[in-house]
Parts: sequence; C-alpha cells; structure tokens
Amino acid sequence: MTSSDGPVPEAGRPVVLRGGTVLTMDDACTVLTDADVLVVDDRIAAVGTGLEVPEGTQEIDASGGIVMPGMIDTHRHMWQTAMRGYGADWTLTQYFVWYYLEHGKKFRPEDIAAGNRLAAIESLDAGVTTTVDWSHNLHSVEHGEAALDALRSVPGRFVLAYGNIQAGPWEWTADPAVRSFLERLRDARDDMMGVQIAFDVTGDPAFPEKAAFEVARDLGLPVTTHAGVWGATSDTGIQQMYDNGFMTPETTYVHASTLTRDSYQRIAATGGSISVATESECSAGQGHAPTEQVLQYGIPVSLSMDTSVWWSGDMFSAMRATLNADRMSEHLTAHLKGETITHLRLRAQQVVEWTTRGGAHTIGRDSDLGSLEPGKKADLVLIKNDSSPVSFPLLNPLGQVVFQAQRGDVHTVLVDGRVVKHAHRLVGVDLAAVRREIEDTIEYLRAEIGEEAWQAGMFPDKPDAEADVLDNPYQYSDFKDESKRAGGEDRVLGR
Ligand SMILES: [Zn+2]
Repeated sequence: MTSSDGPVPEAGRPVVLRGGTVLTMDDACTVLTDADVLVVDDRIAAVGTGLEVPEGTQEIDASGGIVMPGMIDTHRHMWQTAMRGYGADWTLTQYFVWYYLEHGKKFRPEDIAAGNRLAAIESLDAGVTTTVDWSHNLHSVEHGEAALDALRSVPGRFVLAYGNIQAGPWEWTADPAVRSFLERLRDARDDMMGVQIAFDVTGDPAFPEKAAFEVARDLGLPVTTHAGVWGATSDTGIQQMYDNGFMTPETTYVHASTLTRDSYQRIAATGGSISVATESECSAGQGHAPTEQVLQYGIPVSLSMDTSVWWSGDMFSAMRATLNADRMSEHLTAHLKGETITHLRLRAQQVVEWTTRGGAHTIGRDSDLGSLEPGKKADLVLIKNDSSPVSFPLLNPLGQVVFQAQRGDVHTVLVDGRVVKHAHRLVGVDLAAVRREIEDTIEYLRAEIGEEAWQAGMFPDKPDAEADVLDNPYQYSDFKDESKRAGGEDRVLGR
C-alpha cells in the first residue's frame, strides 16, 4: 500500500478509477490512456477521459496502472484447491487414480467447502471475478449445499457446475434431490451464481449419458463436458451428442484437444465454446491446447486453469501458457518442415480477449460481462504496482498484461460494483479462518489415506530412475581427472 491509496472505498457510494490505461475490451478493443472508469451501484456508468462524477464519488488513483475487465475462468475444480500443489508431478492417469478411484470419496461436505472457499478467495485476489466451479465430487446433495454455501460466502461471481464422478451421470441426475437443488439454483436467477451440469461422455456405444443430457434439457441448464481428452473422451462422444441434438450454443467443451476435423466442425456449427486449459494440457496429457483449431474452425473460446492440485489459479498464467504453447507448436511444426515462422498467428490481444469477453460468452453473459462499457456489470481489475520495477515503461498494455504482470500486481478488484480487493489487500476476508478450515481437511484426509499412501500419491515413481546420462563423444580425455580440475591447471575446457 502506498500513501496515495487512501482508505478502502465504502460500499454503496460511486467509485471512479482515475487516470489509468483502460483496456475496454469492446468490439474494437479500444485502449484509452489517462482515462477514468466510473462505477455507480453495480454498473459501469461511464468510461472516458476527465469524467465528471456525482458528488460523494470515491476516487482510486489508477495512474501508471491498467484497468481491465474482471477475468473469467470457465473451468476450475475448486474443491481440489484443498490439495494445492500435491499433484505437481502427476500425469492425468495418476490424477484419475487418486481422485476418481482411490480418494475422492473420502472428501466430506466440509472438505469440499474448504477447497471452494480458498479457491474463491484466490480467484478474487488474482483478479478473476467470475469462476466456473466444475464441481465433480458432489457425491451427495449435502456436498452440493456445502460447495454452494462456500461460494456464497465470498463476494465473487461464480457458476456452480454440478457433477459427481462417484456415479454415472444418468444415475445422479435422476436423483430427485439433485434435481430440486438444481431447480432451486436456477429459479433463484441470481446473477452472482449461475448453474450448469458437469459430466463427461465416455463413448460407450449405448450412450448412457443420454438420460443426463435429457435432464439438462428439461431443466434448461447448460452442460459442460471434458471432450477430446486423450485416452478418456473422443470423437465418439461428440457424435453421440450431435446425433441426439445435445450440442447447443450453451455447451462448453473443456480441453477439446484430441478431436478430429469432423468434431471441431460439429462444435463450430452448433455454436458451443471450447475452454482451453493450457497449463493443464501442457503437463497432464489431455492433448495439445487446441488454439490452432479454434482459430481455424472459428470456434468461440475461453481460458481456464482446471485445478490447483497441479497449477496456479490465475489467468495471467493461463494467458502466458496459451501464447507459449501455440507459438511453440507453430515454430516446431515449421521446423520439422525445414521452414521458419517470421510472423506469429496468435497475439497478446487475443488471449486477453479470451480471458475476458471470451469467458463471458462461454457462460452466456456477453450482454453484461467481459468488457468495460457503460451499462455493463462493474467487474473490473486494476493492475498497478508502483513499487515494482516491472510496472514501467508501459508501452504495450496488452503485452504487459500477458507477459509482464502477475497476480501480485493486482491492486484493486471490483465485483458487481463492490470493492473486494484494494491496495493489494483483500477486503473483509478472514484468511486465518480459511487456513484453519484447510488444515482440518488436510489433517483428516492424511489420516484417512495413511502416511505411506499419502507420500506415494504425492511423489509418483519415476520411469528409468536408474538410466545413465547418454555417452557423449565430445569429451576431453582428462575432463574427469579431479586432481587437475581441483588444481585449476590445464583447464580441460580451455584451449
Ligand atoms: Zn477439468
């Protein structure tokens, strides 16, 4: 906090962010310099330079900073944040074994709540104002209630995507208690809490998931599904969905990494979105992030982080990973043909669009989220860190957001017009209480799982652990003579 930050703005009074570089992310991707954003109630009232503001408006000095729409994560398993970092060296197979087969069932409602609450707070801290909670371990409605209560205890915008990996989707969606939970959420029409149904389509020729899609259609709820995941979901699932009329503009296809042209064309033709989780795809093994395909087939796209059991929970990392993966693939593909890329296809502007307006589109909120325009909801982020040597010069604001900024630079966050982070500090969050909740969960799970399995789960065996470094012919003969190396004479690598 610097002396110019002032007190936390009071709720209920207008707020103006003054003198920032404003990434409106409107249709023309207008960038304004030395500009203001005025927030009245839950809406953006005006964007421009030298704005006149109502009496009593509180001011936030945005000079030297970047004001942008709140970021939107369209797929995060928030309950897994309770196990932050545990699976850093996992493959997708190890993830499936640990959560789906071995230990997922051990999570109690309070464990789901603990992960959700921490993930929700983490989102706000990193400027992620809307997060889709892909909540696929709700093995009772009590778990669902706990997930929901935890999200509601944090002043962010969320979409609860209800799921349950412990049973077939045709089973749990048939449960009247689940249905009434979903109906209640839907009928609340709470714009801070959306609702979706989350399940995967395995490609079983009998297509048992059909019944779950019918429930979603009856309830009028969108489906989000992990599609095109190497070894797990394939083109068959897409064909089944298409043939039965379940591919709609509201459908989200997560990853969609290993599909064929035919499937991408079915997605494009029916208007659904792909949620690209590049950090996840790069290391877990779902397939390469399908950025080339979304461009090629004209498919709406948003970004996501997937899970903090491996990766970071911030969209700066998502944007950066996405540009890097696309460019790596573009260069490598060219190099294999003996060619050179001289102009890159994917730009910083596009990944910023995908994490703002792209996310808004994926969750059906184009009309009121995703850009800084008068009348839209006031979900916004000020990136500003005067004490950081990385904060200047500010020559290319979109490039700055993607490759230079990070979560520690998030100065102020507003959700629905409310200041939830100010001067680099979360407002009204009791992190110590959340820490205790997480500690209780870890203590419980660790005891349930047992110390040996706990350690084995965290540190999977390495293949070829005994393999030697390859023989290298370019070695001066006396390189390994320790007496000469230590004596500093006859330097082996000198000439
Ligand atoms: Zn996922």
